[in-house]
Amino acid sequence: MATDVSFLDPVWHREALCAETDPDAFFPDRGESTRAAKRICAQCDVRRQCLDYALAHDHRFGIWGGLTPRERHRGEGRQPGLGHG
Ligand code: SF4
Repeated sequence: MATDVSFLDPVWHREALCAETDPDAFFPDRGESTRAAKRICAQCDVRRQCLDYALAHDHRFGIWGGLTPRERHRGEGRQPGLGHG
């Protein structure tokens, strides 16, 4: 079954746990910890959809689906598991 990665998908976007938190945590400055954002992503029900969206749209900034841009670039999250969270 294909995952719907439409940005306008109201289902996954509405359920984004980060929408209830500080958005700055998901766009840390260079050298800042990503731990807080990853901890939230690990509990997010739409993590898979979020990560698929970021991979499909080649997002190069921010934490998406619990992965940093570098982790996404390395191919983490393309396999069935979601990498470390
Ligand atoms: S996986 Fe993380 S970045 Fe994606 S919607 Fe959930 S909390 Fe937000």
